[in-house]
Amino acid sequence: MPRIVVLGAGLGGTIAAYEIAGAVKGRAELMVVSNSEDYWFVPSNPWVAVGWREPEAIRVHLPPVMKKRGIGFTAVGAKRVHPAENRLELNDGTDLSYDYLVIATGPDLAFDEIPGFGPEHHTVSICETRHAVAGADVFERLAADPKPIVVGAAQGASCFGPAYEFAMLLDTELKRRKVRDRVPITFVTPEPYIGHLGLDGVGDTKGMLESEMRERHIKWITSARITSVDPDILHVEEVGEAGEVRKTHDLPFGMAMLMPPFRGVPAVFGVEGLTNPRGFVLVDKHQRNPTFRNVFALGVCVAIPPTGPTPVPVGVPKTGFMIESMVTAIANNLSDLLDGREPSFEATWNAICLADFGDGGVAFVAQPQIPPRNTNWSSSGKWVHVAKIAFEKYFLMKVRKGESEPFYEKLALHVMGVKKLRAR
Ligand code: FAD
Repeated sequence: MPRIVVLGAGLGGTIAAYEIAGAVKGRAELMVVSNSEDYWFVPSNPWVAVGWREPEAIRVHLPPVMKKRGIGFTAVGAKRVHPAENRLELNDGTDLSYDYLVIATGPDLAFDEIPGFGPEHHTVSICETRHAVAGADVFERLAADPKPIVVGAAQGASCFGPAYEFAMLLDTELKRRKVRDRVPITFVTPEPYIGHLGLDGVGDTKGMLESEMRERHIKWITSARITSVDPDILHVEEVGEAGEVRKTHDLPFGMAMLMPPFRGVPAVFGVEGLTNPRGFVLVDKHQRNPTFRNVFALGVCVAIPPTGPTPVPVGVPKTGFMIESMVTAIANNLSDLLDGREPSFEATWNAICLADFGDGGVAFVAQPQIPPRNTNWSSSGKWVHVAKIAFEKYFLMKVRKGESEPFYEKLALHVMGVKKLRAR
């Protein structure tokens, strides 16, 4: 039987394994190569960092679930992908050959591109659950001894939703603790305007997020480039339309969380024909690599060009709905290939996002991602906070059961009234 290997068991790889298992049942052997036995629900990390979630609550131990679904599993991790030889070089020195490979390795966090940046230096991170746990300690110290906070994203970042979420969650929690009046918050972002989100805005995200920030007394600096970080000062350049430095800022902080730029993970970075210069996997409209036709990719590791030029580089976000849609397209395309047909399914690459602020939130749908759009919808209210909790509960329940059921599609159809979004 042909062997399909899914590389990476995060948000995309896990549901891909489940969905592919159903689609190719009895026609292929399926194997997942992860670098951890545990799955962590990344979208809840901001809650972990303000003490609203225990990390254990968002963890799923994968080996028994994979076994139940008849999926082979190893947590040894891949050192390098060798697509010309249909082979993975694993971290324990062994090799694993495949007939089809699905790459779902997510991002490598490029903290090293800015001096002093990242959880090994002076800023906290919410990108991984273990980072968020360390961030929660910093937050507790800050709440006990109030100091300024800086939140936002670095130049080249593509994932802005969590930055906005975290700024508002901090505001909500500090108010609950009655110390918000002693904690100035500044939002620093490479976006040319608040609410751009790497998508040139969706609906009225500019108006809604600016208004939310004004309401909460959060100051902001846009078109910002971080030059370096000292133990308690963030150095920032504000860039003008022509790329000139308009102003510099030295922002003191007791806690700073800025989303890093992403790049491809070392196992794929620089593999000729597989990835772009930033290490993201190149795919066609069927999620298939143009050079290595038996390799597919999904999620944050996929190369997607920016929506347009901005004074400071800004990437395009890859969020849960888009990932669900890539998963379905790949499962169907693998099924086609096993039946001797050419792949015909396409992911829709639309964006649906829920940004929770703890006491409300903002939601948007961008269809397609790049404007002008057919659907350009945004909304705000307490329902977003409730929907985000539902997303967490539903997704974790499905991962624990070994099932892949699209959450965002259901939300879009039943709550937002948006139709025909998924892989076709
Ligand atoms: P990941 O979930 O990061 O999974 C990649 C996996 O591959 C990881 O487990 C990694 O360890 C593994 N891996 C890497 N290299 C190797 C290797 N060599 N060998 C084996 N395994 C490897 N999107 C939403 O739609 N809604 C949200 O609310 C939301 N919130 C977010 C909050 C945060 C803090 C972040 C960072 C992102 C958020 N996103 C959200 C965006 C996106 O949905 C997530 O980043 C999501 O986890 C991406 O899924 P992925 O499978 O592409 O990557």
